[in-house]
Amino acid sequence: MRHVQARTDDVLVEYVSRGRRYQVCAARCVLAVPSPVILRIVPDLPQWKKHALRSADFACDASAAFLLDQPAEQVLGRATWRIPVVGKSIIGVVNPGVTLTDEERRRRRGGLIRVYTGQPSALRLEGKSDEAALDILQRDLIELFPAAANSVTDRALARWQFADSPWRPGRAGVAADLAAPAGRLYFCGDFADPAGMEGAMRSAVAVAECLGAESQAGSDVAERAQ
Ligand SMILES: Cc1cc2nc3c(=O)[nH]c(=O)nc-3n(C[C@H](O)[C@H](O)[C@H](O)COP(=O)(O)OP(=O)(O)OC[C@H]3O[C@@H](n4cnc5c(N)ncnc54)[C@H](O)[C@@H]3O)c2cc1C
Repeated sequence: MRHVQARTDDVLVEYVSRGRRYQVCAARCVLAVPSPVILRIVPDLPQWKKHALRSADFACDASAAFLLDQPAEQVLGRATWRIPVVGKSIIGVVNPGVTLTDEERRRRRGGLIRVYTGQPSALRLEGKSDEAALDILQRDLIELFPAAANSVTDRALARWQFADSPWRPGRAGVAADLAAPAGRLYFCGDFADPAGMEGAMRSAVAVAECLGAESQAGSDVAERAQ
């Protein structure tokens, strides 16, 4: 999505797909993208909405996946999902396969461990190549869990510009404005409701309920004082 313009009777959305630019007109538009992206692609927002979105900042993150030639349980222990870490480039070590059955685990033979860095470490890794960053994270992993040494068969790095939107002091004061529709535009995401995935889901359900109620009432868009 490149540009969204709310007009009197509809919303004009411009997007690019496979190198081609398209336009669609819609009665309403739900913006489920991070707040800095909304500010970039929707220039004509009312001031109260711009103010709220500007105060909803995001943290970046990096995560790495390490494939092992042994089950992750042999490194992290049984029934362990996530281990918090301090004093390293890593802030968390996860076994994403913790919910697999013993049968599924036997069939897969190997295992997978995922690590997260948090923002300060992700920023430090920004200037490094993926391979150099992976070397640092793998070294941390092996220092913490020596059983992982010589066990890594493959690895991959992901960098997340808008990983999550931390609810800092003051955010509650703009929470209602973050979640409120602005004319034909509706907003959801973790920036509009605290608690990561749960907040993103909850705010999306709230938008769906609001649209459903408006549709049932056959009403046009809700008015809001500017
Ligand atoms: C590595 C990592 C681990 C995490 N672990 C947890 C956890 O354990 N628990 C938890 O609760 N939360 C966790 N989070 C945070 C959680 O993922 C987010 O809070 C949640 O995904 C936010 O959902 P969302 O729908 O608001 O935004 P997103 O999931 O970020 O979705 C926004 C979407 O908008 C798309 N987009 C961006 N720009 C445009 C554009 N111009 N046009 C069209 N689309 C666009 C993006 O591609 C993306 O798909 C984690 C995040 C990361 C990165």
